[in-house]
Amino acid sequence: MTLTGNLLIGRAGVPATAGTMKAFNPAVGELIEPEFAFGGAAEVDRAVRLADEAVDSYSHTGPAERAAFLDLIADKLEAVKDELAARASLETGLPIAQFEGEVVRTAGVFRKFATVVRQGRFLQVAIDTAQPDRQPTPRMDHRLQKVALGPVVVFGASNFPISYSVAGGDTASALAAGCPVVIKAHNAHPGASEIQGRVIQEAVAEVGLHEGVFSLVRGAGNEIGEALVDHPLVRAVTFTGSEGGGMALYHRAQQRPEPIPVFTEMTSVNPTFVLPAALAARGAEIGGGLVQRAMYNAGQACLKPAILLALDGPGFQELRDAAIAEVEKAAARTMLTPGIHDSYVRNAQRMENGGATLIGAGPVPARAWDGQSLLYEVTGEQLLADPVLRKEVFSPAILLVRLTGMDQLLEVARAFRGQLSATLHAEAADHAAAEQLLSILERRTGRIVFNAFSIPQEVSYASTHGGPFPATSDSRFTSVGMGAIERFIRPVTYQNFPDDLLPQPLREANPLHLWRLVDGELSQH
Ligand code: NAP
Repeated sequence: MTLTGNLLIGRAGVPATAGTMKAFNPAVGELIEPEFAFGGAAEVDRAVRLADEAVDSYSHTGPAERAAFLDLIADKLEAVKDELAARASLETGLPIAQFEGEVVRTAGVFRKFATVVRQGRFLQVAIDTAQPDRQPTPRMDHRLQKVALGPVVVFGASNFPISYSVAGGDTASALAAGCPVVIKAHNAHPGASEIQGRVIQEAVAEVGLHEGVFSLVRGAGNEIGEALVDHPLVRAVTFTGSEGGGMALYHRAQQRPEPIPVFTEMTSVNPTFVLPAALAARGAEIGGGLVQRAMYNAGQACLKPAILLALDGPGFQELRDAAIAEVEKAAARTMLTPGIHDSYVRNAQRMENGGATLIGAGPVPARAWDGQSLLYEVTGEQLLADPVLRKEVFSPAILLVRLTGMDQLLEVARAFRGQLSATLHAEAADHAAAEQLLSILERRTGRIVFNAFSIPQEVSYASTHGGPFPATSDSRFTSVGMGAIERFIRPVTYQNFPDDLLPQPLREANPLHLWRLVDGELSQH
């Protein structure tokens, strides 16, 4: 595929109206061809208006047609796997093999959402049949299904240029829900974004959907993102990135004349707690294993286990030594962008200013934007005293916390803000302590992992990638897994309707063979 650098608005490729940019290869410090177009408020308006025009037809596509569309995107993504992986690698400095895996995984996510659409359970159909003789008041027939919200704006993430970007899980789940998508492509990987965008654009055309089902815009600075969030026809926003960016967009959306939901996924340190018997039995294994996982994507992952907490006692030294040995082996890797690299350097300095002691370091970086692997240590008392030490450092840096005892461990657990995940390492002898810790963790995280590591994230029906603020702005939802579709639907009840005017999922004969809650009982009839 020859990259054009154009914005993708409906079926059109739109050249620059507000300047251009080139991608940057952080591994060698060079700009890469071609030039990519920036647009402005006029392009946002055109994309969102088209998306709004597409809502009526697209949100009423039947399960077979919509699922076929999602399957086609999956096939087309796999067909461009090699060039997409190569371009993503060029634009991020991360290995091609990682992106080949990401393409396969992302295609798999589209296929899983195709299954969700065919099954139709997400419609959550409920039917309360008429009770004309009920006393003292008769009941009319009530039929509920979930419907699509309307145009959704997706802010692509910088750190997963495929699976959390243009064709990522946000786009897949919004399209599955029946919502047209306008993506704000991240400027860190414009070429990878265009390849994915054109794959979806082609699929829209081949299936014969309204062209407004998908558009991709890009711009310089905050204006384009602000114009998207402000547009009166946008019905929901998803965002993955920094807490500052996410909250700026969240507040902006709440100040619109018509506020809309903004689902931000922002920051998490994913604390790992090692209880005493597990520490004594497996200290070295846990310390070394955690560091290996934390280095995935050069530590630029929302699920990085950034803080490792253990009691000073049997096994602690082994855990510490193994963690140091693993960090010293971890080669410096190119960070995604110079900005993310510079922010790492600043935040590492912040840790040292906060009293953290550097106890292990990987080889010194050879290139300008490589991030060195670092291991810091603090006491439980220090961690409790300084909230800055409990903040995410988006990088290959890890903090080891030496705790005085279970009381301090529980106090520290209570001090954490909302998290995407927390991990517990425990043996049978630890279970009483684990129970105390679990009730604290359940209130603070969306996922609790037992005797394992939180990476990789499974994309399935039981996945949760969410959690209380500031992990996300809405802890009731997940952004990964089949449940992610629920962010983009809302209930509508049809009351006292004749059968032929009802949507197919609600009709008496159940023509789609859905599982439905009929008078409180699950039924497929
Ligand atoms: P970011 O700065 O939050 O930007 C994410 C996207 O939102 C970009 O497209 C950006 O547009 C846009 N944006 C941000 N603030 C905006 C605002 N006020 N108004 C309008 N648009 C806005 O995140 P990033 O560029 O990916 O990386 C920066 C930092 O974010 C990292 O160092 C890391 O700390 C954090 N991060 C965390 C995660 C995670 O999973 N926890 C993932 C990625 C990044 P422009 O680029 O055009 O400004």
